[in-house]
Amino acid sequence: MKVMKFGGTSVGKPERMHQISELITSDDEAKIVVLSALSGTTNALVEISTCLASNTRTAASQRIDTLEAHYKQFINDLLKTDEAKQKALQVIGEHFEFLNIILKISYSEALNKDILAQGELMSTKLFSAYLSEKGIEHELLPALEFMQIDSFEEPLIGNIKVKLTQLLKNHKDKKLFITQGYICRNSKGEVDNLKRGGSDYTASLIAAAISASVCEIWTDIDGMHNNDPRVVDRTIAIEQMSFDEAAELAYFGAKILHPASIWPAQQFNIPVKLLNTMQPDARGTLIVEEAGSVGVKAIAAKDGIVAIKIKSSRMLLAYGFLRKVFEVFEKFRTPIDMITTSEVAVSLTIDNKDNLEAILHELEAFGTVEVDDNQTIVSIVGNEIVQTPQVMMHLFDSISDIPVRMVSYGGSKHNITLLIPAKYKKQTLQVLNKGLFNL
Ligand code: ADP
Ligand code: ASP
Ligand code: MG
Repeated sequence: MKVMKFGGTSVGKPERMHQISELITSDDEAKIVVLSALSGTTNALVEISTCLASNTRTAASQRIDTLEAHYKQFINDLLKTDEAKQKALQVIGEHFEFLNIILKISYSEALNKDILAQGELMSTKLFSAYLSEKGIEHELLPALEFMQIDSFEEPLIGNIKVKLTQLLKNHKDKKLFITQGYICRNSKGEVDNLKRGGSDYTASLIAAAISASVCEIWTDIDGMHNNDPRVVDRTIAIEQMSFDEAAELAYFGAKILHPASIWPAQQFNIPVKLLNTMQPDARGTLIVEEAGSVGVKAIAAKDGIVAIKIKSSRMLLAYGFLRKVFEVFEKFRTPIDMITTSEVAVSLTIDNKDNLEAILHELEAFGTVEVDDNQTIVSIVGNEIVQTPQVMMHLFDSISDIPVRMVSYGGSKHNITLLIPAKYKKQTLQVLNKGLFNL
């Protein structure tokens, strides 16, 4: 059995849904197809929710109407028969009815999650309606019945496996299953989600739960590129990379994959393929245990980073200092991404600013604390790159004009990380593209 996940642009137009129905029926293997919301929908739902939170209900209502008009047109173009159109309009109408009802309810975080879930619920129902009209036998599996996270927002893979296996057993006669990406239930049983871009994570978790033959991520580009195509003009697709390399790139900003989406597949050694819905014959990127080749694979950048420096003469020749510093971050459940130390100071970075004030307050007990906001992490990822002297030479030659704030080297053989002020991101990615890839 395999998993095929289609992202927002891959389901965002009626003709794309027509096309993916061909892709999922092109061979006999049983499949679970994971769908995102139609492109733009989750952003629209975030806006609706934000309007509600700030009590600007007229603006929320207008946005709901605009979104509903878009879905009505979509249904008209997606389906052929009046009967199918009427049925779909009624199904989608219920979701808009829900959105209009919540306009009258006071905002809460749980309500926000309910709002955000509407996109995937609607895209899967529309696709199912289209498959039914075409006479393609399938079963819609509600993700809310098997996708679960715990109180720390970590997926409960054991529970997911048990519940999903049972659901599949109930439909032994079927070979094609459709389900929602992104949405799940939390430890309180409420509707929740796996964070933005989370459908990739859903796909990988399902692939792990059913020991899939492959986890295919179908998107709008022909695989993982060597640099961020949104920032740099000339980038090329990478044929093969290791789970470690892909995980590093995803975590450090390669938007093509959700930051956490590699570990479930890696843990169960399930190959991940990144493929282009618009160009299904393109080779794409294969992600497996082996890196495939030695050398630099790709560069990724992650914005919104805060650098914190703690300087203290008490650190000199002292032990236990770093432990105390780390305990503060642990207490506030804030991951540290980069760290560099000198004998009297330590600099580290975080991207979660939720508890920044409280963290800084506690760190002040250990010495002078300085904060640099608006930083960007640039991660250079590849196989054995740290042992390749030429890589280091080209890397540092290329960035001679960039005011680098931190460098992390030697943490692993496969990664060199730089911290730069955000305004130098484009320039840094461009000079590295030339210096490391000659592109
Ligand atoms: P989907 O909606 O299918 O999940 P996303 O927009 O989340 O698609 O991810 C695909 C996008 O990721 C591409 O269109 C591209 O702009 C962006 N991207 C960023 N970094 C990379 C990279 N290194 N390789 C490929 N795509 C990347
Ligand atoms: N629809 C969600 C989002 O836009 C999840 C996803 O597309 O992966 O973030
Ligand atoms: Mg995505």
